[in-house]
Amino acid sequence: MSRTLAGRTLAGLGTALLAAAVLANPAAAAPADTPSTRDFGNGAERNEVAAVDNAAVSALSTRSLPAEQPASTWTLKTWKGYPRQNTLPVYPENPEDRSIKLGLIPYHSIAPRLNALQKASNRVSAEIIGKSAGGRDLYLVTVTAPESAADAARQDRWRELIEDNPSAAARDRSLKAGYKTPVWINANIHGNEWEGTDGSMRVIERLATATDATTRDLLKRSRVYLTVSNNPDGRVAGTRANGAGFDVNRDFATNSQPESRAVRDVVISTQPFVMLDEHGYTGTTLIEPATPPHGQNYEYDLYIKHALPNALGMEKAIQKLGYPETTRADIPFRDYAPGDWDDWPPIFTPMYAMYHGAIGHTVEIPLRVNNADYTGLPVEELRRRSRINTDVAAATIEAALTYADTNRATLLTDQIEQFRRGWAGAPSPVIPDGFVDGFGPEDRYSTKFPRAYVIPAGTPAAARLVNHLVANDIRVTKALHPFTLAGKRYSGGTYIVDMHQPKRGLANVFLEAGRDISDLVPQMYDISGWSHRLLWGAAVDISRDAAPRAVTVPVTRAAPTGAVDAPHGRDLSLSLRDGNDVRAVNELLTRGIKVRRTAAGTVVVPADARAVATSIAKTFGVRFTAAPRGATGPAVEQPVIAAAVSADELFALKEMGFAVQTVSTAVLNAGFDLSGIDTLIVSSGLSYTGLTPAARAAVDAYLARGGGVLTRGATGAAFNAAAKVLPATAVTGRGDANGVVTVTNEGPIVGAGSPPHSFVYSPIWFTGTGFTVEQRYGADPLVAGHWLPTDAGANGPAQAAGQAAVVSGSTAGGGNAVLFGTEPLFRAHPKGLYAQYARALFWTAG
Ligand SMILES: [Zn+2]
Repeated sequence: MSRTLAGRTLAGLGTALLAAAVLANPAAAAPADTPSTRDFGNGAERNEVAAVDNAAVSALSTRSLPAEQPASTWTLKTWKGYPRQNTLPVYPENPEDRSIKLGLIPYHSIAPRLNALQKASNRVSAEIIGKSAGGRDLYLVTVTAPESAADAARQDRWRELIEDNPSAAARDRSLKAGYKTPVWINANIHGNEWEGTDGSMRVIERLATATDATTRDLLKRSRVYLTVSNNPDGRVAGTRANGAGFDVNRDFATNSQPESRAVRDVVISTQPFVMLDEHGYTGTTLIEPATPPHGQNYEYDLYIKHALPNALGMEKAIQKLGYPETTRADIPFRDYAPGDWDDWPPIFTPMYAMYHGAIGHTVEIPLRVNNADYTGLPVEELRRRSRINTDVAAATIEAALTYADTNRATLLTDQIEQFRRGWAGAPSPVIPDGFVDGFGPEDRYSTKFPRAYVIPAGTPAAARLVNHLVANDIRVTKALHPFTLAGKRYSGGTYIVDMHQPKRGLANVFLEAGRDISDLVPQMYDISGWSHRLLWGAAVDISRDAAPRAVTVPVTRAAPTGAVDAPHGRDLSLSLRDGNDVRAVNELLTRGIKVRRTAAGTVVVPADARAVATSIAKTFGVRFTAAPRGATGPAVEQPVIAAAVSADELFALKEMGFAVQTVSTAVLNAGFDLSGIDTLIVSSGLSYTGLTPAARAAVDAYLARGGGVLTRGATGAAFNAAAKVLPATAVTGRGDANGVVTVTNEGPIVGAGSPPHSFVYSPIWFTGTGFTVEQRYGADPLVAGHWLPTDAGANGPAQAAGQAAVVSGSTAGGGNAVLFGTEPLFRAHPKGLYAQYARALFWTAG
């Protein structure tokens, strides 16, 4: 196998080589042996661009945080046969659509084309499965030979049998003979990686009209599902992100965005054997399987035995196209060093799909047409590249269809086996060297699944977590009576995740702590740590070995948690422990209720607002208790916030109900009026040294009159130093370091009642005196993730241990300031950290 240091070095140098090639001859195609290069998502670099408020963010964030959010938005309709055609709404032509310059299909042309295909062919069905952040339709196209309603219902029953009773499915001869191979193609999840859509449309057109026996037989034996554009906002605008500024292909552990929720529901409902996620542009076509580290919760043997030959088949298919640019593919498992293109986190579409039984592949089409190339290259060259890219996308889809059809018997057997192992509690597979060509010790990852997780009910965080698990097709039950497990007594109503279940891998990837993989690989592609158990605010216990023995019922939706738990006539108290508590306070303020702060983390609501409080408690699942008699404090006002923040932070702020005016260096330089602002948030796209003298004077005046400041990350720390906010010196860990860390809580604002874990990306700690330490990194802080020291043996977790992670203090002007070295709102994921950020925000607002 050729996974050598040379391969890794080449991959690392790819950007430079590609840039050099383009500089030398901008009109030339990338050379065929150009190593693949990668595009990063919203990681450390997200500190550079300030988010701009828009309708998409506002519309989405109003409903995301409440614990009661619906589990699922779309499902296959079991009472219909095929075709199940719909006349899709047609939208006005948009001459600004960025696809047009490339000669590709603009968003507004997709619906008319699908409508025409449905008219022309009884093999094609199209439907709308949701709306993008920006309100555009998300389409699912199904191509298959016609089925009666009874045929379709039988297919549905078989699909359920495979998951619910895999042993029975394995014995069912009629299932084996008649079950149609489900294949799912996802395209254009990154909006400015266009041609997956065009390749998908071409394949749909061919399958719709082909008269050859091979195609007819394939469609009798297969259902081909295609989400032809998973990110129409980005397709139109020429952006990687959706209309809310999110990288959808990093959102699968969180599902904060409608685009990821829609395809989550597609993968659950269709249970594909094989799926492709069509991306671009890596110079050379890239086809997964990926490098190690491999997710330790996969049934990886069942995956790689298909993923590698399927990738080789796709490589052959692009070779057959005959272009000098498509003579080979990079297959990371075969060609790259560990860590260069891994499948570790569940945030990517194919990795997420693997937990639902799919052989998932990211495919990167080769020739760059976005960003600087989009504006810099001649139109003819762009269109030439897009034609080749479309050919590559179509060829990989066709090859995957052929693989799935040819190998349908073993694919079925292996999906059944994946779910069987889950139900049986079988040990994590140990795979021998040479299991497939190139499989070695560096590929071997496994875990010991716990017997059960237990989630005590009653908090909005518990309800949110349970609803998230259920929405992801993880089986959760609720105990009807009190029970004891692993030596601990639980009340009736407690939730149980019995790990003897078909999708145990997904359950564990969400609920385990994760693993410190710093020593295993020199670098990682994206995040390496996450944990819904440690970061989402709910208490979750682990039963390592003891089986739950309780009378239970399945949970389809968490029980409501909202309550007003106080005698009539008493003032009410609410502690800000969860983002929903914060949302509730903002709702009270919006409705004109007088709220007083008795401590940084607790507010008192007057007894006469009980009716409003009761309604808010119900909506947001929060619990008001009786306030101590005579409890009072300063009135809480809705803070007036100017925020230079990243898109994910803006989204999280809106989830919590804060009104935000977005700013940036440019906005301040244009004369933004700070006089009415209570607090200024700085984490992205605001540089004090980049301000004009007038804007700098305005910031100085703001600080001199006691305006509040909240910062996060390197951009915030730089602002703190340049504007002399607090006398704290920031020390930064390695830029790509990230993961779940332990923290100790000390201070009265952020430290009050925060969980003992936090999340970091490019971690920062603070040294000096003249401030209060709110939170410190633990003694051995990294629980899960990847955080190496720099080459000098500095800036690692050992150096961060015990250092201040979050600090608070008074500015020279008498204002309040809080500096975060952690990432409490990262990609809207760590819901359990929201409240500490909000407490800091209220406090800095005064
Ligand atoms: Zn991409």
